[in-house]
Amino acid sequence: MSQHTPQQQLFEKSPVWEEDDQHSAVVASVVLAGRVDRPLDYVVPEKLAGQVEPGKRLRVPLGRRNQPTVGYCVAVATRDLPGTGLKSVLSVEDERPLLSPTMLELTSWMSERWMCRHGEVLEAVLPAGVREAAGRRQQPHLMPAPQAPASDEARPRLTPSQVKVLTAATEPLTASELADRSGASRAVITRMLNRGLLVEVEAPSAPTAKAADDTPPPLSNAQAAALAPICEAMREGRHETVVLFGVTGSGKTEVYLQAVEETLRYGKQAIVLVPEISLTPQTCSRFRRRFGRVAVLHSHLTPAERHREWRAIAAGEVGVVVGARSAVFAPTPRLGLLVIDEEHETSFKQGTAPRYHARDVAEWRCRRESIPLVLGSATPALETFQKCLTGEWRMAELPERVGGTHLPGVLTVDLRDGPPRRAGGLSSRLEAGIRWALNAEGQVILLLNRRGFATHVQCHACGHSVTCPQCDLSLTLHQPGSRGICHGCGRVIKVRPTCSECGTTGLSIRGSGTQRLEDNVARTFPEARVARMDADTMRRRGSHEATLDAFRRGDIDILVGTQMIAKGLDFPSVMLVGVVYADAALHLPDFRAAERTCQLITQVAGRSGRGPKGGRVVVQTATPDHPAIRAAAVHDYNAFVRHELPIREALGYPPFGQVVRFVVRSRSETAAREWAEHLAGRLRQQITSGETNSTGVRVLGPAPAPIERLRDAWRWHLQIQGPDGGLLRELVRRAIDGLRVPDSVAWIVDVDPVEML
Ligand code: ADP
Ligand code: ZN
Repeated sequence: MSQHTPQQQLFEKSPVWEEDDQHSAVVASVVLAGRVDRPLDYVVPEKLAGQVEPGKRLRVPLGRRNQPTVGYCVAVATRDLPGTGLKSVLSVEDERPLLSPTMLELTSWMSERWMCRHGEVLEAVLPAGVREAAGRRQQPHLMPAPQAPASDEARPRLTPSQVKVLTAATEPLTASELADRSGASRAVITRMLNRGLLVEVEAPSAPTAKAADDTPPPLSNAQAAALAPICEAMREGRHETVVLFGVTGSGKTEVYLQAVEETLRYGKQAIVLVPEISLTPQTCSRFRRRFGRVAVLHSHLTPAERHREWRAIAAGEVGVVVGARSAVFAPTPRLGLLVIDEEHETSFKQGTAPRYHARDVAEWRCRRESIPLVLGSATPALETFQKCLTGEWRMAELPERVGGTHLPGVLTVDLRDGPPRRAGGLSSRLEAGIRWALNAEGQVILLLNRRGFATHVQCHACGHSVTCPQCDLSLTLHQPGSRGICHGCGRVIKVRPTCSECGTTGLSIRGSGTQRLEDNVARTFPEARVARMDADTMRRRGSHEATLDAFRRGDIDILVGTQMIAKGLDFPSVMLVGVVYADAALHLPDFRAAERTCQLITQVAGRSGRGPKGGRVVVQTATPDHPAIRAAAVHDYNAFVRHELPIREALGYPPFGQVVRFVVRSRSETAAREWAEHLAGRLRQQITSGETNSTGVRVLGPAPAPIERLRDAWRWHLQIQGPDGGLLRELVRRAIDGLRVPDSVAWIVDVDPVEML
């Protein structure tokens, strides 16, 4: 395509001394979402001259058939056009730019940093609601008409779809939102509107600010020492990254709160990132109580709500933004502080393209704005820890819990001494611990990081195990109904009581999951009220909050769950935390398996003994001497770091090197393998070509991925690693430049992967 323009040219202006500007024109560079890698250039016709601006979307003709297509304007320049046949911009889609020049620059840096298309990044930065609402006239919001029949019995004349729509319309929603939520078609909704079953209402307005009703407590010495460098950087208008390394309950959140307060005093805005909003309702409500109006960006917002918050933030009306990963893109015009709580959580890395990490994006923004970045965790990522050891970042430690409560004692139960008496995984020590807590009217949290009833169903005669027909994974048994569910693709298959291979009746089940644990606990402690929190029980909007509220009120005695229950919850009545099988993630083929295990156990253990009655932790493991488990058992994360860092260094893994991972997928096993081999060959060629100094760079693989088959596709992977990420990206770019990918394979490039399966 003749329109491809090297990025550099975008910024060239026509020389000012040019006498004859006959051929100069205003040219807009346009990035198209998803399709073309590089920006395309279009002439701005005179009638649109005043309207075209970077950050707005433009409608442009694309391809030989001049298909009108919407793209993002990333640059505008006056240029000499020596007779090229550039096409013209057709129209301007937005009244105001959706992205500031800084945010545009950020997106361009991101596409380079994570080797993804600029268009993909732009789409990730702008939430769907913003993209839709900014272009078009706002769609009216709908609600059931007051006279619409209310109860199921009174709906004899309604079709099932109409009932679904009325049930879904619990708040003002646009027609498309309502269609999404109810599963009904737009035509159904239009008919209901015409029949008067739905009416148009005012768009929901911004929630009114609740008055702040929380006064900050005086800080402890350790807290004050942690807050000081943050405030100092703010005062001096310089960037600094401060890592709050503090055990759970040491008062990190209080330091964030006071740092945010300081930011507001300067008339600036603060962004606070949390791993997942629904799992951290307490953190959000603490910010609300302290500051009144807080924009909380969570995944359950409707596009319209999201757009409203976005506009309020961009207008500078909101001082505090709390949200998950993508809130790092909040369009704050006066950013003064960015905080990442539980910064070690893998949810800060996006699992689909663009595969960015919010921590790196946050650092870019803070450096750019010359403002402090605060990262908090009881178990900082090793990447973060190492940056503190080298002095690039500053670490502030909060070694003790606030208020003098002690960290709970941890008892390790060696599963090799005899398997738990009951199926479902409770050893007698754990059972005794639960009884101790219940007798003292305390609450119990039991962590088992495997959902479902059992992870393996196997024939005890021939050993055949029940697997997903399209994935290389055992089916997890879910009850009731003996459903085998593939946790790779979600396929549900009825598990029959006879073996499909040899016909023997009676299958054995192994690897208890949370569902079986819950059953067992309920049977062992019939007087206790038991609830379960995992991806299966938490599907509905609001179910997290409901369960956590019930737990807080004391309506639940024992909460069973996956890693969901390990996050920032602060319940003073929890007296016992049980880790039912600590080794669950220890032996995964991932160089971070030990780090994750240590983090998870440390985090969940920290939920115990926050109140005056104290608490205990019981950890069941078959590898009690593993450094990750030993360190967690004595609350000494430092010990784990000291053990783990030299191993990473010897292997050249992060934080001592960077990794770029490739996953190749194909329906054909041969095609997947061959393409992976081809890629590996090209990468090795680059390393040995001598064109770059590739000391310490190596290619690992290709090999079948740990999950070798997923959704009927064969998966092969390989990785290139080395001390310098910039060099790795350069080698990758050279290796894949001009590569023609066969139709039969798909592949992804993941820079700094956190997921290795
Ligand atoms: P973390 O975020 O490290 O888990 P928090 O900030 O949630 O710790 O503090 C733990 C508990 O101690 C909370 O209930 C909090 O309100 C309280 N707290 C924190 N700092 C102080 C302080 N300086 N004085 C009194 N109470 C405090
Ligand atoms: Zn499957």
